[in-house]
Amino acid sequence: MENPISIHCPDSLDDAVAILSARPGARILAGGTDLLVKHRNGMLPNLTDFVDISGLRLQEIERESDSIIIGSGCTMTALAQSPLVADRFPCLAQGAIQVGAFQIRNCATIGGNIANGSPAGDTIPAMFCLDAMVRIFGPESRRTIPIAEFFTGPGKTVLRQGEIIESFALPDRRTFGVFFKLGERRAHAISKVSISVSCFESGQGRREFRIALGAVGPTVLRCRKAEELMTAAGWPPPSADLVDKASRLVMDASRPIDDIRSLKDYRKKMTGVLFIRAIDRLNARSYQLNNSGEE
Ligand SMILES: Cc1cc2nc3c(=O)[nH]c(=O)nc-3n(C[C@H](O)[C@H](O)[C@H](O)COP(=O)(O)OP(=O)(O)OC[C@H]3O[C@@H](n4cnc5c(N)ncnc54)[C@H](O)[C@@H]3O)c2cc1C
Repeated sequence: MENPISIHCPDSLDDAVAILSARPGARILAGGTDLLVKHRNGMLPNLTDFVDISGLRLQEIERESDSIIIGSGCTMTALAQSPLVADRFPCLAQGAIQVGAFQIRNCATIGGNIANGSPAGDTIPAMFCLDAMVRIFGPESRRTIPIAEFFTGPGKTVLRQGEIIESFALPDRRTFGVFFKLGERRAHAISKVSISVSCFESGQGRREFRIALGAVGPTVLRCRKAEELMTAAGWPPPSADLVDKASRLVMDASRPIDDIRSLKDYRKKMTGVLFIRAIDRLNARSYQLNNSGEE
């Protein structure tokens, strides 16, 4: 017979951390859409306890000085429906709405998507583009680290036993952005390749670009050379030649492998294709804004 598993429902972060620290076999349970699948498939042989954090107040999205704070317990549905997220961070709203189906999105949290550490996690490329900081609550102290330093490999992060992601802090600036994913089907599929492209006004009419790729490396990857080229080219939209050159830099930045979902050559090629589509969508959005009188 399998060992029984205890479920704890702490009513504070301090209590949750105390339980996690005292029990090495304990795992944080948020929406359960990754964790319970792994448990059912026998992938967690040392599991002894679930620490259910869904009762903690980690679901808020709010302004805090020059940042917007997104609680780790925010569901994909809440992210996709938030007017603040839609206005400031459209690429994140688009990532959230493409996770699973309704039932999954109603349970799945952004904290779980990030902590799970899959390079195919659909909110992660947007969080790279948005310069998100991960705010971690631990047994001894709080710490804050940039999202790009949070992942150490597929399914691996810098989180230590007893630590909980409390929230994410994103610079409060209006961005224009898109998130595209390519899966086996148009919906309800894990990404073979995904891309987030985002830009924001950084003064004197300059637009600064961020480009991040999912599912084509051991972690989500930033495409810094392509970002520099696009930023230097400025706005209105750069020429087709320049976008083509940037798409080749995006392909160069990818490090895909062959696996059950796709082949590496196809994945690499599609990073470039998705990038060109993303720029096309951004240009169309820009055209719409310039001709609608919207600020
Ligand atoms: C049918 C199905 C379809 C899916 N489709 C997609 C998809 O299209 N795109 C996609 O990206 N994902 C998809 N997923 C995966 C999953 O839904 C997401 O990764 C989800 O965001 C995980 O969040 P959760 O709250 O359910 O996490 P949980 O399952 O509760 O936890 C996941 C992991 O994170 C840890 N954790 C959770 N919260 C915290 C925290 N605050 N601090 C520290 N550690 C924490 C847990 O201990 C666990 O290791 C799918 C899953 C299913 C079952």
